[in-house]
Amino acid sequence: MTTHTRCLIIGSGPAGYTAAIYASRASLSPIVIEGPQPGGQLITTTEVENFPGYFDGVQGPKLMEDLRAQALRFGADIRGGIVSDVDFSGRVKRVTTASGEEFTADAVIVCTGAAARYLGLADEQKYLGLGVSACATCDGFFYRGRTVAVVGGGDTACEEALYLSNLASKVYLIVRKDYLRASKVMQQRVREKANIEILFETVTMGLFGDEVLEGAHLAAHSGTDNENFYDIAIDGFFLAIGHQPNTEVFVGKLDLDDAGFIKVAAPGTATSAEGVFAAGDVADPHYQQAISAAGMGCRAALDAERYILSLA
Ligand code: NDP
Repeated sequence: MTTHTRCLIIGSGPAGYTAAIYASRASLSPIVIEGPQPGGQLITTTEVENFPGYFDGVQGPKLMEDLRAQALRFGADIRGGIVSDVDFSGRVKRVTTASGEEFTADAVIVCTGAAARYLGLADEQKYLGLGVSACATCDGFFYRGRTVAVVGGGDTACEEALYLSNLASKVYLIVRKDYLRASKVMQQRVREKANIEILFETVTMGLFGDEVLEGAHLAAHSGTDNENFYDIAIDGFFLAIGHQPNTEVFVGKLDLDDAGFIKVAAPGTATSAEGVFAAGDVADPHYQQAISAAGMGCRAALDAERYILSLA
């Protein structure tokens, strides 16, 4: 059986739920397909202190529960399921889930998010939330006056190192090459910060600590005559080696950039397929914040509403 809806939302992070709130209040009766991790990346975070309106902070899962409840309150039809195939070629969009459910829609909003990339060390999972984080803006506050390390040499790594340098007493920036890939201005700022130490040509071999993270095993000049193994004592280990957008199912169906993020016609949210809009981290490699994703979800719902009205 095929279910038709005017507005189908794929994904359930801050962008998806916000799009659902707006689309339901606009009487579009949206269906939301939640995806493999209902609630998105915030489900795996602890305290969120920078989402406006939560004066005392809020746990990530609670924030998503609230957004979901708000979408339900206005009549959004939220369903479990993982989208396995899409056909955006016609005026009516077709979406199939892994369990074989079929949906058709006048407009689709893609909010499938992105996942932070990790090095792939077993220790990263062991200390996740116990010293390991992929978001300095989210968790940096907990490392006031402590020593932390950031991995990566791009703009994100530099930005995270600078942000943390205002909170932590000492920041190591662990860079695998002998240069930073970040823009000149970011490099300059990092180099000028007295409490940031850049460890070039260095890779992380492992992490250690009794119950929480206490340090990292590093290798400098790995594979050369100057190879040097040593440990650093750290309380926090921040990954900043990029994000992987969740766009496998859209390859060949929507225009993606070189890193796989969905291209949208800024400042709007229209994708390369008419009637398909995208919002949140899947279409925004730059800001990657819950509040910016929610804002973009709002814009996508307004764009979808305008598009649907134009069909009448
Ligand atoms: P980038 O892809 O630019 O950089 C990723 C960094 O992580 C590189 O230094 C890369 O090393 C390193 N890296 C990747 N894999 C590993 C690994 N397995 N081990 C160790 N290091 C690794 O990603 P960003 O998230 O920094 O930036 C994404 C985009 O967003 C960029 O276009 C950036 O310019 C932009 N941006 C702009 C900002 C601004 O203007 N303020 C702020 C943040 C992002 P290597 O160089 O060796 O490949």
